[in-house]
Amino acid sequence: MADHDVDLFVIGAGSGGVRAARVAASYGARVMIAEEYRVGGTCVIRGCVPKKLLVYASRFSEEFEDAAGYGWSVGEPVFHWPALIANKDREIARLESAYISTLERFNVTLVKSRAALEDAHTVRLGTGARVRAETILISTGAWPHLGPEISGLEHVISSNEAFHLADLPNRILIQGGGYIAVEFACIFAGLGSQVTLVYRGENILRGFDDDVREHLRNEMRGRGITVTCGHTVAAIEKSGDELITRLSDNSAITADKVMFATGRRPNVKGLGIEGLNIKLHEHGGIDVDEYSRTSVSNVYAVGDVTNRVNLTPVAIREGHAFADTIYGGTPTPVDHSNVPTAVFSEPEVGVIGLTESQARDRLHKVDVYKTTYRPMKATLSGRNTRSFMKILVDGITNRIVGCHIVGPDAAELIQVVGIAVKMGATKADFDATMAVHPTAAEELVTMREKAMSYDRPAAE
Ligand SMILES: Cc1cc2nc3c(=O)[nH]c(=O)nc-3n(C[C@H](O)[C@H](O)[C@H](O)COP(=O)(O)OP(=O)(O)OC[C@H]3O[C@@H](n4cnc5c(N)ncnc54)[C@H](O)[C@@H]3O)c2cc1C
Repeated sequence: MADHDVDLFVIGAGSGGVRAARVAASYGARVMIAEEYRVGGTCVIRGCVPKKLLVYASRFSEEFEDAAGYGWSVGEPVFHWPALIANKDREIARLESAYISTLERFNVTLVKSRAALEDAHTVRLGTGARVRAETILISTGAWPHLGPEISGLEHVISSNEAFHLADLPNRILIQGGGYIAVEFACIFAGLGSQVTLVYRGENILRGFDDDVREHLRNEMRGRGITVTCGHTVAAIEKSGDELITRLSDNSAITADKVMFATGRRPNVKGLGIEGLNIKLHEHGGIDVDEYSRTSVSNVYAVGDVTNRVNLTPVAIREGHAFADTIYGGTPTPVDHSNVPTAVFSEPEVGVIGLTESQARDRLHKVDVYKTTYRPMKATLSGRNTRSFMKILVDGITNRIVGCHIVGPDAAELIQVVGIAVKMGATKADFDATMAVHPTAAEELVTMREKAMSYDRPAAE
């Protein structure tokens, strides 16, 4: 050990890296962490947190409109984008210093530098300095991937830049159909931009339940967002202050900004892993076992760089489990099944477990319960919106294998439903739970009529 400057060197101070560093240090390890940009990583600096603040901002417009039906007279609301961005930046700076204080409190040495592996025990910093470490953890996250080279790609922004625009664009075209594209489409629409969402697939939110995808697309259209599926952006031309985007069907759309949210790639470039025989899996992430160990025995990787389930709580759990395993004496694998997740669209989406088509593929008998209803708040406001809930039940064990919600507070709801599903709750357990009235959540425990039931013959 004398041969090593530190017990653990962590590359990347984002969700996974900071958690791993802090917990390892709490077990007595000498830990150093390198961060090339800002401490907190994607989630805090240019992901979940700033996004949610923009989501809050964007929802006021509907609140102002809805207030009238409840007897309120609200003057003409005026929105000031620079004020929102400045306030958001102040909050992000506060969070970043809280992260730095935590690292200091746990005696983790923070190096503000890019870091790369020189060999399995040596990390090279931006200054050229070398640090010898017994164990190395790669937690470098992921980066927006703008897709194939097209003419005018230099005019395109990603979510990184969307958080720092000087002005709110009057018109924005967003390419992508994943949750980041959908969320930004709803944010900009709520703030008053004219939004066009262009997606190459047949419907947004690939991988989500088909009913959820359809319901959300209709709701987004109802809020004035143009959702164009089955097309891609072929070229972009700048004309004065405007961007003229040509789509694959040769149609043209003029906008002030063009944003691509076309996926993220694990940050593995320039890390020095090629020379070390650290294996990547086919999705481009670092290949790891259930304890986040790479193909080199003292090098580990957690979070988005492993491209398993790319969410903050998962990166944090993986970082924590790594530290418990290596420094806490408790080998802790991470269970990536039944991860509840949300899309902070308008309306929100909250899901856990299997989609209907996955359930039909995997189970012998599936019972489907679903409902769509007008949220109570929409009665007096007159807003034309509907909520949707679906519960998928294993028809043989009666266990709930999937729950899908589109409507107000779906993210909050699915967190709680997630506990029940993770515990193995059955439909009978849901039915036995008394409703809370009047709520939207009571629909979850009052759905009695099967919408459908699928049986797969035993031979299949
Ligand atoms: C717009 C957006 C919205 C999102 N919304 C949500 C959400 O609502 N909920 C949710 O759960 N997840 C959300 N995510 C995903 C979430 O942010 C990530 O899953 C999470 O941050 C991954 O954590 P990580 O530790 O793997 O990597 P990161 O948090 O990305 O941290 C990696 C860090 O490593 C640093 N780094 C990279 N290379 C080097 C190097 N060579 N040397 C030194 N430092 C380096 C980077 O600067 C970065 O700070 C969102 C992501 C985006 C982009």
